[in-house]
Amino acid sequence: MKQLRPLPPDMNLGDTLARRVFALREFRNLTRKDLSRSSRLKENRIEDIETGIETWLSSTDRQMLAMALGVGAYLLQDVENRPDLGSNTMYQTDIEIGKRILAGALDLECPKCAAHLNCRVEQGYDMEGNVIKMAKAFCTKCPFVIR
Ligand SMILES: [Zn+2]
Repeated sequence: MKQLRPLPPDMNLGDTLARRVFALREFRNLTRKDLSRSSRLKENRIEDIETGIETWLSSTDRQMLAMALGVGAYLLQDVENRPDLGSNTMYQTDIEIGKRILAGALDLECPKCAAHLNCRVEQGYDMEGNVIKMAKAFCTKCPFVIR
């Protein structure tokens, strides 16, 4: 692979993965297709990254993408945004676990670290004041939690 010229020190790289990949691709004068070919990431994934749909990369993908952009992988990792384990956001796995708890499962594994999950069902109220059941769980080892 040919040597790519170093980035100018005053280059504005942006502070999100989306902006950074876009800025680097433009700087290298690459189309998404070019970058897709050299990084072996599919063109629609590059689009997802540049539009902020994908906010973090697996280490293999990061390596390939960084190499294709002629930068160190840390430059991308720096601005990646992984879902925060302790946040309130409900992710797909959380919803799945929630369903299983409501179905009576009490002996579940943490999706992040496989340790025992402490599960319970709580009663709450929806916006109309109807009683609803809510699944709660927290991991006994890591910060994973369903509130
Ligand atoms: Zn855990």
